[in-house]
Amino acid sequence: MQRIAILYDACNAVLSTFDLDEVLNQILAIARDYFRLRNGSILLLDDATRELKVRSYFGPRDSGTRHTIPFGQGITGTAARLKRPVYVPDVEKDARYIPGVAGTKSELAIPLMAQDKVVGVLDFQIDETNSFEEETIDLLTLFAAQASIGIQNAKLYSLVQRRAAQLEALNAIAKQTTVEKDVRELLQEFCQQIPHSFPARHVAVFLRDADGNLVLRAQHGTLTGKLEEDELLAGAGRCGYTTSAGGKLQYGPIECPSPCFAGAQSEVCLPLVSFGLNLGMMVCVSDEINAFPPNDVQVLESVADILATAVQNTQFVDRVRQLAYLDGLTGIFNRRYFESRLIEEITRASRYGGMVSMLMIDIDHFKNVNDEFGHMSGDEVLRQVSSVFMRQLRKVDVVCRYGGEEFAIILPATQLPSAAAVATKLLRAVEAHQFPEVPRSITISIGVSEFPTNGRTRDLLVQAADDALYAAKQSGRNRVECASGTASVVSEQ
Ligand code: GH3
Ligand code: MG
Ligand code: MG
Repeated sequence: MQRIAILYDACNAVLSTFDLDEVLNQILAIARDYFRLRNGSILLLDDATRELKVRSYFGPRDSGTRHTIPFGQGITGTAARLKRPVYVPDVEKDARYIPGVAGTKSELAIPLMAQDKVVGVLDFQIDETNSFEEETIDLLTLFAAQASIGIQNAKLYSLVQRRAAQLEALNAIAKQTTVEKDVRELLQEFCQQIPHSFPARHVAVFLRDADGNLVLRAQHGTLTGKLEEDELLAGAGRCGYTTSAGGKLQYGPIECPSPCFAGAQSEVCLPLVSFGLNLGMMVCVSDEINAFPPNDVQVLESVADILATAVQNTQFVDRVRQLAYLDGLTGIFNRRYFESRLIEEITRASRYGGMVSMLMIDIDHFKNVNDEFGHMSGDEVLRQVSSVFMRQLRKVDVVCRYGGEEFAIILPATQLPSAAAVATKLLRAVEAHQFPEVPRSITISIGVSEFPTNGRTRDLLVQAADDALYAAKQSGRNRVECASGTASVVSEQ
């Protein structure tokens, strides 16, 4: 009667929760309270390494408990191999015994089974010989069978939960495909999201550049990468699913580049393909062996497909946006871009107490160029003037066609005297340039203004540069004039 009561309680306790650690603690609590045992541990079998690892225990903590025992070794490993309880009433007389808890005299190890498969061992090490009666061993064996069911339930439940979390992540990423986002921002968020629902310690995304090289565009995780962002992945170009086994990093049937991340033990590496276009690859890395079970890889394949679509969409949106900001004739930025960018630069300068200057440029007597050499030659002059500007300026400067034969240039972090010097340099470069279809020199006039001195808003700043340009025209053209209230620099003629 007492046996049935114990089993009934045990069954209820282990089935009362789906949390694996809680189930294990319940099992040990029953062993401790009902069987009055002073220590006990539950070891779970790691399929990858074939080792039994202590997952939960009670009893003296400083007792030198071995945390890992190879399958088949020691009393615990033997119980797992034989798939039946092993009781050693006097460990000193048993060669299989591997010293564990200090002062152990006898040991009982009962395998935990799921159908015909060993999932772990329930182990007790007692400080006296002949500690268990046969009846207790039978009862503990029956209890272990109940406990196994609890363990299996908890494992299944966590698998279901994991799948649900992964589907949620998949859905979240799918939503990103329709959100207008910068590619970098999209990838950064993606890399941050994946470790929440997949066993990846590090996630990285490589995209192909114009030459087809794989370039690291975003990464997130705890492993140290060999690569910095924007760095090329040497020797790459082929990628596929890779996994590891036997403690070493091993690649799948498709060759993969050498591991980029320190301590990587297993890795899933998937190509990002959208509409037949190979855009790059995503890499999920773990410092654990066999971290990615086949089901996870399957879900990750869907993740990669969705990510590829999202990347292509954002690249497409970026391209369309870029086109809307480019001037069709010269290929430089247009007025719309100039206006929004100038606001950005002013905002940045006022926030950080910086400077911005701008140039307003107009070609002198351009009407005559058209009249003398034809409209087509005039167009070519506009293109060539644009490229003269581009060649003379820094990467951070923003060259725009403001309209007709007028150009506007933003010079971030530049004060008026330097801006005037830049303007003079442009003036001379255009004057010296030989235009193929125009057998004489072409000149420009430039008005310079500076934020905040000549205007605190975009329109005031443009107005100030425009007024200075007008003054340059009035004073004879081929000149640089600075906005009023500041020292003017006039070019040598
Ligand atoms: P100023 O020195 O006072 O600036 O004289 P200008 O002749 O340059 O000034 P105006 O504003 O009278 O003439 C500008 C000319 O630029 C008129 C227009 O036909 C020409 N233009 C504007 N856009 C284009 C273009 O896209 N291509 C060509 N070829 N000419 C253009
Ligand atoms: Mg004009
Ligand atoms: Mg003009």
